Amino acid sequence: MLYLDHAATTAVHPEVLDEMRPYFGEMYANPSGAYEFGADAKAMIHCVRQTIAQSIHAEAEEIYFTSGGTESDNWALIGVAEALRNKGKHIITSCVEHHAILKTCEYLENRGFLVTYLPVEKSGEISIQKLKQAIRPDTILISIMFANNEIGTIMPMEQIGRLAEQNHILFHTDAVQAYLHETIDVKKLHIDLLSASAHKFQGPKGVGFLYIREGVAIAPFQHGGSQEKKKRAGTENVPGIVGLGKAVSIGMRDFEKNRRHVSEMQKYLMSQIERRIPFCKVNGSITNRLENNVNISFRFLEAESLIILLDMEGICVSAGSACSSSNPGISHVLQGIGLPEELARGTIRISLGAENTMEEMEFFVQRLVVLVEQLREFSDEYQSLRDIQST
Ligand code: PLP
Repeated sequence: MLYLDHAATTAVHPEVLDEMRPYFGEMYANPSGAYEFGADAKAMIHCVRQTIAQSIHAEAEEIYFTSGGTESDNWALIGVAEALRNKGKHIITSCVEHHAILKTCEYLENRGFLVTYLPVEKSGEISIQKLKQAIRPDTILISIMFANNEIGTIMPMEQIGRLAEQNHILFHTDAVQAYLHETIDVKKLHIDLLSASAHKFQGPKGVGFLYIREGVAIAPFQHGGSQEKKKRAGTENVPGIVGLGKAVSIGMRDFEKNRRHVSEMQKYLMSQIERRIPFCKVNGSITNRLENNVNISFRFLEAESLIILLDMEGICVSAGSACSSSNPGISHVLQGIGLPEELARGTIRISLGAENTMEEMEFFVQRLVVLVEQLREFSDEYQSLRDIQST
């Protein structure tokens, strides 16, 4: 199998699995237990909080464990909205956010909040000018993703953060795709809340965190026990948190090496596909882009068919976003960047991981060239264009 869908999820790193294993077995204590056995688990959780804090230049007390990206996004938006509802009811986001943000905004709209969905440029970035214009006296929160999960475009974080700070508005970022792929300094970027999810960086599924800057007003998300400073009740997912911590340590250790390797493969893929396959277009920003993302549209074919043919050869890629590939409609992100429908329908997302190799990239391009041509045999328009070109 050739797995090229790392933006959807990643394999748990073997070192992560080794670290987690004892916490399913002999280290099963509840961290709230009033005995040493429980205290050990509690100490381990604190260590993970410190490791994560270090990775984004935050404090350990500002890290809250959650069940992943979706919960972190829900909590950030709903928690801030509830806490600041007397101050204002206006929220700003972008039209290319993940559904974990968009659906939560919809939920808040149904409860009396007003949401501005900023449009994006062709590159997928928001315009700072439009953001400035959208700010109102009652704006309480700006939530803009760090990097897009479909097209890999990185948003102008520093400028957004500065603008939010100048206007005394909280700034949340969904960094699920960017965390441990990009350098993140929450202080420098003026980020007040940040979401991340372990399964995107070789940690286990069902665990993540929300960074909440000290002093940010936010309502608790789950009610019950006193875990997570009474803000997110429930017995901690100890093995998951331990795995998350190990995945963060490995991600920080291998950061530069992985980036170089993944970037080399990305450049190879983009240049080879564009050189060897006519009528295709790379989507998203070329300069402000995640190193692991290649989003590309092919004219004269349906991405669904290409994905099936690739799958028959054991190659996993995704159409648009993995989270919405059950939705046959055109991705809201591709619509957001104004991609014509014909191109949007022929779009695939290739997302790379550190364990991929250059040999795999060469093999993938070879197979892609053949399969794209095979599918285009069914397009009369393509055939007649080819005939014109050959005469
Ligand atoms: N936000 C973004 C940008 C994502 O890409 C995803 C998942 O793909 C999520 C949120 C949801 O994260 P999780 O799967 O951990 O709930």
